Parts: sequence; structure tokens; C-alpha cells
Amino acid sequence: MLQAIYELPVEDKIFYAVLAFSWTVYLWEAYLAFRQRKIYRSTKHVPMELGKIMDTETFEKSRLYQLDKSNFSFWSGLYSETEGTLILVLGGIPFLWRVSGAITARFGLGPEYEISQSLIFLMLATLFSALTGLPWSLYSTFVIEEKHGFNQQTLGFFMKDALKKFVVTQCILLPVTSLLLYIIKIGGDYFFIYAWLFTLAVSLVLVTIYADYIAPLFDKFTPLPEGELKAEIESMAKSINFPLTKVYVVEGSKRSSHSNAYFYGFFKNKRIVLFDTLLEDYSPLNKTGDAEAEQGEENDVVGENKAKPKTNKKQGCNNSEVLAVLGHELGHWKLGHTVKNIVISQMNSFLCFFLFAVLIGRKELFLAFGFYDSQPTLIGLMIIFQFIFSPYNELLSFCLTVLSRRFEFQADAFARGMGRASELYSALIKLNKDNLGFPVADWLFSMWHYSHPPLLERLRALGGPKQD
Ligand SMILES: [Zn+2]
Repeated sequence: MLQAIYELPVEDKIFYAVLAFSWTVYLWEAYLAFRQRKIYRSTKHVPMELGKIMDTETFEKSRLYQLDKSNFSFWSGLYSETEGTLILVLGGIPFLWRVSGAITARFGLGPEYEISQSLIFLMLATLFSALTGLPWSLYSTFVIEEKHGFNQQTLGFFMKDALKKFVVTQCILLPVTSLLLYIIKIGGDYFFIYAWLFTLAVSLVLVTIYADYIAPLFDKFTPLPEGELKAEIESMAKSINFPLTKVYVVEGSKRSSHSNAYFYGFFKNKRIVLFDTLLEDYSPLNKTGDAEAEQGEENDVVGENKAKPKTNKKQGCNNSEVLAVLGHELGHWKLGHTVKNIVISQMNSFLCFFLFAVLIGRKELFLAFGFYDSQPTLIGLMIIFQFIFSPYNELLSFCLTVLSRRFEFQADAFARGMGRASELYSALIKLNKDNLGFPVADWLFSMWHYSHPPLLERLRALGGPKQD
């Protein structure tokens, strides 16, 4: 057996190693999810320690919700691993490349028009994955989220949204990819430096235009009305020299009633976005009476609400809790977490382009994936970044998860330093309740997956509800 593997040509060794690694990761993830599911199944009573922060009803609701989600991700994970394997084994990538070549040939463009062929390939590949992903995402939204009272979308809104997302993605992906391929082609020996600089520039441009031009295509952003909350947010930002220019409320409740807050923007032009579902007074789910008034405009939430008046009544957070949550968010900024994350991701991207430059000349990589007579750059990017780097990608993502948990503790401590410990304490409990988070986690599962520390650990670090 070992002898037989040893005698395989190097391209076969590469191919089998890629498959074996992919299944190893899959089985590892499946094992972790199994451990966590066992916890969902067996923990039927609120543990002693949590008695004060979670009532039995919410606990049971969140247990069933997380169990459903976990079962769903078992099947969707098995499906996507099988699909990926079949694509590799049956030669789906070279097949799609030939189809793209046939399409470009119809337009009178020969194989020398590699960039055109690459764009067709990319369009077909993204279309394929959008279509095969659609049933899963429909099921997740309209069966699971719906069943647990989170879904606020109608089927029409969902489909329009998916289509819009596909079109917007193509509008960005296709020009960026063609420029990148062009740069790699003409860049000479140091093309990897130019390619890296180009992707850096693209990500800076995207971050700059995303909030003003892309996000509003999908969600409605309204300035937070003048009032107590706004004044308090402004004075808090001022107290730590956060260059706040605008506060928005985003209508997150139109898609889902999960709640959140974030900030964005460069240098002196920072903006804060609050999900309406975070705000006690703002959430349309809590509005009663004015449903009629809003019926004129396109509003799926109201329609849904009238049919099912009892979808998860949200608590949301009161003003001082919202401020505590923002204290945490601004802590990420003040402590340089955002900058650190950007630096790490750019260093990683530089390293990857450098290794790509080292590897792209190796014919056996292309042979391994069924490319016998051509070595298209786009395929090389795919093979190297996705398949060859996958062990490194796994390791990196684990390290980033560990780092993210550290940052979360630090941001909590920052909010505590601002004297907002007890408000953050109660906000975390409310948010956990509104989002039906399950407070008990398998240690291995949470270590691998949780970007935020488990609720109990955060509450303990905050030092209890009464302390300030
Ligand atoms: Zn955070």
C-alpha cells in the first residue's frame, strides 16, 4: 500500500493529498459539531450557575434552536464536502474551463484570450455555486429561522436580495479579477508585489465605498434621530477622541431579528451603525399601532407581523445598555484591534502572493487537477490559494479565532474601564436572550469555533452585575 503511494507520479500524490486533507478537516469539524450537539441534547436544565441570568423557557428555546441549526449544518456540510469531492474527482474544473473556452470561441476569441475565458469561467462557477447553495439557504431562512421566530423576509424579498447580491458581486469580481490577471501577466519577476499592492488598493476602495454605495443597495440606513441617545453617543465618542461624524440605524429587522452594532470609516470620518433590533424603542417588532401607517411603502415586516403578531417579542437594550455595547465596540478601535486585523490580513496576503509566485511555474500542480496542456493563471490562483494553502488557511483561521476572543475580552475590559460594566453585563444577557444563544459549550468546539468568548466567561470577567 505505502509502496504503491510512493510510486505514484507527483501530480497524483498532490491530488490525493488535497482530497485527504479536505476530508480530514471535514471529519474533524463533524466530530466537534457532534460533541456540541451532545451538549444541546443532554443539557436540558439551566445549569446552577446560570440560574440568575436565564429563565427556563428561554433556555429551552435556545437549546432547540441551536440543535436545529447544528443538525442543518451537519447535512449542508456533508453535502458541500461531497459536492467538492465529486467536482475534483470527475474533473469538473477542467470541464468548466473547456466550456468557457467554447463560449469565448463563439465570440471569435481563441485560447490566447485567456482573460476573457477566465471571466466566463468565473461567472459560470459563481452561478453554479449560487444555484446549488440556494436550496440550503432557502431552507435555513424559511424553515429553521422561521420556525424559531427570527425570519422577517418574504420569499419575494429573499429572491430579489439574492439576485441583487449576485449581480453586485459580478460587477466587482469580474473587473477586479481581469485587472489582477493582467497585472500577473505583465508584472515580470516581481509581479507578486504589484498583485499584492493591487489587492490592497481594491480592499481600501471597497471599504471606502461599501458603506455609502453598496450596503444601501441592500438595507435602509437612517440617521439616528436627535435626542438623548444620540447626544450621549456623541459625548461618549468625544470622551475617547473617537472621530464620530454620523450615527445610523440600519433596518436589520427586515431580514432577521438578530441584533448587532458596528462602526466603520477611515481616519477622521468614522460612523456608527446600530441595528434597529438592538434598540428597545426603535425595533419595528416592538411597534404596535402604527402598522397601518407604514403599509403604503414596501414593508415586508409589517405584513409578516400582522399575520403572526407573536414572533419573538424583542427586548432590545435601553439607552445605557446601548452605550455600554458601543463602549465595547469603540474599545476595539481605541485598543487598535481594527488596525491590527488589517495589518495581519495584509501580511498574510503578501505572504500568499509571494508563495504563489514561487509555485505558479510548477506544471505538476496543474497536472494534478487535470490541466494537461495549459496553465491558466486563474486556475493557478484557485489551485494554490484554495487547495495547496488549505492546511495553512486552517491554522491561520484558528489563530485568528483565538486572537479575536482575546480582543473581545479586552474590549469588554475597556467598557468596564469607562464605568459601564453593569450595563454591559445586562446588555450581554439581553442580547444573548434575543439571539437565542445557548450558554453551554463544549470546550473543544468553542475553542475551535467561537470568535467571541462564551457568555459566562465574559460575564465573569466583567465582575458581576453589581460592580462598577
Ligand atoms: Zn467585540
